[in-house]
Amino acid sequence: MAGKKFIGQNIAHSPGLLREFYQWMRGGEQVLVRPAADLPLVLISYPKGDGIGADHFRESLEETWLTLAEPFRQRYRPILQSAPPLIVVLLRRQNICSCLGHHHPPGTESRLTRRLRDLSGVRTGELDLAYEAIRQWEPLPLSHLALPPEADTEEFNSFQWQLALLSVFLHEVHHLVSPQESEQTVRGKSQKFYTDVLAHFVAESYGVEYGLRSLAGD
Ligand SMILES: [Zn+2]
Repeated sequence: MAGKKFIGQNIAHSPGLLREFYQWMRGGEQVLVRPAADLPLVLISYPKGDGIGADHFRESLEETWLTLAEPFRQRYRPILQSAPPLIVVLLRRQNICSCLGHHHPPGTESRLTRRLRDLSGVRTGELDLAYEAIRQWEPLPLSHLALPPEADTEEFNSFQWQLALLSVFLHEVHHLVSPQESEQTVRGKSQKFYTDVLAHFVAESYGVEYGLRSLAGD
């Protein structure tokens, strides 16, 4: 009982410890993903019983990435070549701050990541992603996209979600690798990646060209 009291006293005085204790009580789950060689090894950590986002993100890394045309994947090659070989992704449904994700600069990582780095001896990065917020995300230009009616399918929605997960992941890796780069530059690159890949997918899948409505002159 003395031990319990000790824990209780510490928790009361440390919000960080309270959070860790809560996560330990609630439990968490991890899945290690080994995607194609041009992506880093990824450990997805998510709350227990909340595996749906992890399944989609794993599929994005293992399968969707490989379906993208080579020139699209090449856009992130220099960034991926400088990325830590192991990246921990803390996956949640939503973020309190309503952001889609964050990179965690060195020194701010979770205990899980610090332990992994110590155990593995390899450079280990960390970021978080909010999968439900990402599913609902529409980058600015996309709200004006003229999509063909055929595109309103489960296949399209599933691809769009997986591509969005990939884009936000690459965005945060870009921040990790180039902390000096401005948000505007990093965001411009990931949004262009997202819209270009989606346009390509629609053209390939439905045989129609599409573009931004505003550019089509309406
Ligand atoms: Zn950013």
